[in-house]
Amino acid sequence: MIEVDGLVKKFGDTLAIDGISFTVYDGEIYGLLGPNGSGKSTTMKILSGILRPTEGKVLVGGIDVAKNPLEVKKIVGYVPETPILYESLTPSELFNFVGSIRGIPKNKLEERVNYFVKAFGIEEYLEQFIGTLSFGTQQKVSLITALLHDPHVLILDEAMNGLDPKTARILRELLLEFKREGRSIVFSTHVLPLAEMICDRIGVIYKGKIIAEGTINELKEKAHEENLEDIFLKLT
Ligand code: ADP
Ligand code: MG
Repeated sequence: MIEVDGLVKKFGDTLAIDGISFTVYDGEIYGLLGPNGSGKSTTMKILSGILRPTEGKVLVGGIDVAKNPLEVKKIVGYVPETPILYESLTPSELFNFVGSIRGIPKNKLEERVNYFVKAFGIEEYLEQFIGTLSFGTQQKVSLITALLHDPHVLILDEAMNGLDPKTARILRELLLEFKREGRSIVFSTHVLPLAEMICDRIGVIYKGKIIAEGTINELKEKAHEENLEDIFLKLT
């Protein structure tokens, strides 16, 4: 579903991504695990068609992200690290707005909004201004907007941060359902136990490079390796 090959991203003189390659298969949750500043968010933005790569090739569902970011956005749901929301809209207004720019049929939109609003339990906040809601509720609204168009790929940037345990459990169940339907998820985190709980395979990212990759068990076997041990200490 996702193929990243030799990805490089520079911001001026800063080399944020320094030659990353990885593959995410259908029905897989791939974790990007690394400390702050390692390049997770930059990678996620490139995968969602928001940032253009400096070098390298990224295919999402067979579509070249650099050549066709708008087509990629149709099949990707992206949840940014910090919710980018319209503070003076209510969740209801935002969902309708997303529905209209995404061209989601009205009955389909209504059905999906109802489903996710109920799943996340935010019924009572639908008519309040988003700017007045707690961070956790804003995060739920952000998650719902990413799911409304029925994406094939979900890009979740530190999406469990600030969620209460109940919501984290609900999100985890949604992710497992998404996966069972053969869809793919990229899940970034700086928290090792979270990656362990959620991801099928993990790429450990450090200073813009993937320095190790595998299942959590494979990584634990390699954990004594010099660099990896240091990084794991930072992540637990
Ligand atoms: P992470 O999400 O793992 O914390 P980021 O992808 O946000 O890491 O950042 C990787 C590196 O790129 C950092 O050194 C960060 O300062 C730099 N960076 C990210 N975005 C920008 C930007 N828009 N302009 C300049 N530097 C950036
Ligand atoms: Mg980040």
